Amino acid sequence: MFEQYVLPYSYDALEPYIDALTVETHYSKHHATYTKTFNELAEKAGFSEKSAEYILANLEEVQDEGLRQALKNNGGGYYNHNLYFEEIAPEKGGEPKGVLGEKINETFGSFQDFKENISALAIGRFGSGWAWLNTDKEGNLSLSSSSNQDNPISMGTGLTPIFTIDVWEHAYYLKYKNLRASYVKEFFNIVDWDKVEEKYKNALA
Ligand code: MN
Repeated sequence: MFEQYVLPYSYDALEPYIDALTVETHYSKHHATYTKTFNELAEKAGFSEKSAEYILANLEEVQDEGLRQALKNNGGGYYNHNLYFEEIAPEKGGEPKGVLGEKINETFGSFQDFKENISALAIGRFGSGWAWLNTDKEGNLSLSSSSNQDNPISMGTGLTPIFTIDVWEHAYYLKYKNLRASYVKEFFNIVDWDKVEEKYKNALA
């Protein structure tokens, strides 16, 4: 049974950066539906005992093309939103510290450069999708973006995503309308970098 990440903050806690109605709709409608559908599909595919990561990395085991695509979409929708809601929290922002902060500086030059690069990927992604910060098993960081609910796992990169920006319109349209760049800029005010660093360390363990 795949469990939807339980929000430790209220729907209005991310104001003014993300409005309460957007968080409520995003979490209780979009994410909840992906979770429910993923559970149904995983059972149908005989994957109930597997992890979401395993399923997304091994979609080729599913013979039926329609079921395989639906698992990719809904499994991604489940997994991606768990990461998204987990990495944000009220009164966060700032810059990553510790080993993650050091690795970001080493890889991208500075936190500012990292932010500009991943923001450009998020803003430049045509249509619905995601921008990603990924690590390999050795701790090397890289950026990418994906369309729909695809992610670095279902795309077969072998990388582990540790931070993401949701750029589907449902993530920002009520407040920011067509101004995706404004949403991406303000999003950094609610990123919990300690949580992202925890994800980084877990990916290397
Ligand atoms: Mn979303």
